[in-house]
Amino acid sequence: MNITDLKPIFPEELFGDGPIIMAGPCSAESEAQVLAAARALSKNGIKIFRAGVWKPRTKPGGFEGIGTPALQWLAKVKSETGMLVATEVANRSHLVDAILAGVDVIWIGARTSANPFAVQEIADVLATLPQERRDSMAVFVKNPVNPDIELWVGALERIYNAGIRRLGAIHRGFTSYGKHIYRNPPLWRIPIELHRRLPEVKLICDPSHIGGKRELIAPLSQQALDMNFDGLIIESHCDPDNALSDAKQQVTPEALAGILYSLQERRATVSTESLQQLRQQIDRIDDELIDLLARRMRVSREIGTYKKEHGMPVVQAGRYNDLMQKRVDDAVKLDMDAEFMRTVLAAIHEESVRNQVEICSPEASVEK
Ligand code: PEP
Ligand code: MN
Repeated sequence: MNITDLKPIFPEELFGDGPIIMAGPCSAESEAQVLAAARALSKNGIKIFRAGVWKPRTKPGGFEGIGTPALQWLAKVKSETGMLVATEVANRSHLVDAILAGVDVIWIGARTSANPFAVQEIADVLATLPQERRDSMAVFVKNPVNPDIELWVGALERIYNAGIRRLGAIHRGFTSYGKHIYRNPPLWRIPIELHRRLPEVKLICDPSHIGGKRELIAPLSQQALDMNFDGLIIESHCDPDNALSDAKQQVTPEALAGILYSLQERRATVSTESLQQLRQQIDRIDDELIDLLARRMRVSREIGTYKKEHGMPVVQAGRYNDLMQKRVDDAVKLDMDAEFMRTVLAAIHEESVRNQVEICSPEASVEK
């Protein structure tokens, strides 16, 4: 996809050079709850108010949102505070109702972006909007629950092809099996790769859904800003403990103001002589790494030929295990992270195996 003609996702005067900040409760629960949160957030300078009206719940019986009637509360927030209002849409009728209620910003949730039929259904409605409305509508696409960058890019493409030019992406972490400190582990390399591929698409981070706990919002937000994300979407509720959804990860508007105040922005782009020199060093080291990897791969192919001639299997678990163990120990002694070393070695080993299998059975093509 060649995305080069995007418009600024929000009017320049809203955030200037600073990060895009969207905040509001996970769910719109009642008119009073929505307005209380909106008033407090607006007082603290928040310009875009989020609230979920239709809530995708993992199991039935949870709070599934108020639905269409809650859109009127968002309209009230808009007229009373002047904030832009944002909500999640998952199908055609959600989108039609949101548009009729004057919602300014929509986002496609993580369960929906994993489903190309649903995204296309939404894109098809967007494509039929009058030009003016399509031009003013900002659309964010959350990453799909599964760590599939193609699906994420594909969903963005569908929305772009519908003529939307105020386009953004939200990183909210990925579903994983088992217990982790994060509710949805961030797998930062995926949003970083998205940004590499689609640098024009604004990328914001949702630390509330990644962390799943209040305490993790500040450190995750700081990490995101350090990685040059364009902004944050954070869940905020006046009485978080009694929220009808995602109670553990919501913070009061006051707590949110404290978190935002504590964050350090790193948006400078100065490129001094010393930074350039360091980058040149990195370039040279990377050249050496590539050279070393190529040499290693040549030797590995020679081993493949030897194994073929002697009828040996390509993978020898004992050898792989010893090699992994030793290299990881060496790396740790040199102050490197064990997990990082394992990942690098596993990738190198996988490529060696692929090469050796190709040598042993050239007729059986091995998929990468
Ligand atoms: C939400 O933003 O409230 C939400 C449901 O998020 P996600 O789609 O990331 O789970
Ligand atoms: Mn939520």
